[in-house]
Amino acid sequence: MTRSVSILGVTGSIGQSTIQVIEELRAQGRDIPVEAVTAASRLDALAEACRRLKPKFAAIADASLLSEAKAALAGLNVEVGAGASALEEAGARPAEWVMSAIVGAAGLAPTMAAVRRGAHVALANKECLVCAGPLFIEAAQAHEATLLPVDSEHNAIFQVLTHPERVERLTLTASGGPFRTWTREQMAAATPAQACAHPMWNMGRKISVDSATLMNKGLELIEASYLFGFPSKSIDVIVHPQSTIHSLVHYVDGSVLAQLGTPDMRIPISYALTWPDRAAVSTARLDLAKLSQLTFEAPDPTRFPALRLARSALDRGAAATTALSAANEIAVEAFLDGRIRFLDISNTVEEALSHLEGAEAGLLAKMPSSFDEVKAVDQAARRAARLIAGNPAAA
Ligand code: NAD
Ligand code: MG
Repeated sequence: MTRSVSILGVTGSIGQSTIQVIEELRAQGRDIPVEAVTAASRLDALAEACRRLKPKFAAIADASLLSEAKAALAGLNVEVGAGASALEEAGARPAEWVMSAIVGAAGLAPTMAAVRRGAHVALANKECLVCAGPLFIEAAQAHEATLLPVDSEHNAIFQVLTHPERVERLTLTASGGPFRTWTREQMAAATPAQACAHPMWNMGRKISVDSATLMNKGLELIEASYLFGFPSKSIDVIVHPQSTIHSLVHYVDGSVLAQLGTPDMRIPISYALTWPDRAAVSTARLDLAKLSQLTFEAPDPTRFPALRLARSALDRGAAATTALSAANEIAVEAFLDGRIRFLDISNTVEEALSHLEGAEAGLLAKMPSSFDEVKAVDQAARRAARLIAGNPAAA
């Protein structure tokens, strides 16, 4: 197998796991040339990725860092770009397979550049799908891009979706996050460090906070609905603290198919990279006797209102999911910066959405018909959330 690849967000948690998978497959004799890599601003980590992967092109999001980036990558035989256009160029360059692992709506434009040239797009970034929803899926179909879900739940469903037209229901599993057993009072005082200490997965800070509020599962509910074409009423969420069953597909004959494995993102990443084949990867093997039991519980709607907010945004339609995700990005950032408390994350998102309904009524009612309209909704939701989270100067 030869497969040329690019990695958007190479310095993040998913980016690093992707490097490990590529190195392991290269050591088995597979030819995996790397076309392009990107990072936000960490030049040391970008240089390290370039040393390991030997890409042709490296892009840094922060345009002011161009000359520093050139200095940091000197001697590595890599072309260097900076700013939004360089990120898009990374997606547009001719790699067969592109890992979309930038966090947040910032990943949308570079990922769309890969979609528009009909690439195989491994989708770790869920926010771009939640943000642009139906438009993103339509573009993938129009350009014959292949979307390969990497989010572990969606990858699980993708692996067992043998008869898409015979599905009755999907069940997304959730670990429950670090506050699964905490009281509301304890959650009210939770610190960013506690919110980022996930019991099962080692991930970037934004998704870790989303896992603590369960907004991550809300975003995944929306992601599953757009990706697989099922309405919100056909998708359930169940808390499963062992993170062993990664999701389930219920068929019309009563059969339920699930994908299981240890919680290690190298499994879905390697599946997406080698699809429709599989490859030997040195992930820890599942030991059921050692696990001894798998448990399940319903999510608590009182302590985790984010799930309800996400479901209601999905029921309202695409503009509402765009606004939900954008407001959540701002609220999470405000929490990580110490400006709002943990329970205020969901409150901020809820208030931002009701503010938009009041002040800019037309905005959420209308289905965005272009990426420019999506951007307008995203920006309005960010402004509203910044006002509510007490940072109007940045609005
Ligand atoms: P991370 O914070 O560890 O890494 C994010 C990457 O995006 C970094 O390379 C960073 O440099 C880059 N980046 C950040 N802001 C940027 C910007 N404004 N412009 C350009 N680049 C920017 O995050 P992560 O945990 O690797 O997650 C990445 C995506 O994958 C997220 O959308 C997340 O929801 C999704 N995801 C992650 C996991 C996981 O296990 N980490 C699992 C499922 C889905
Ligand atoms: Mg997930």
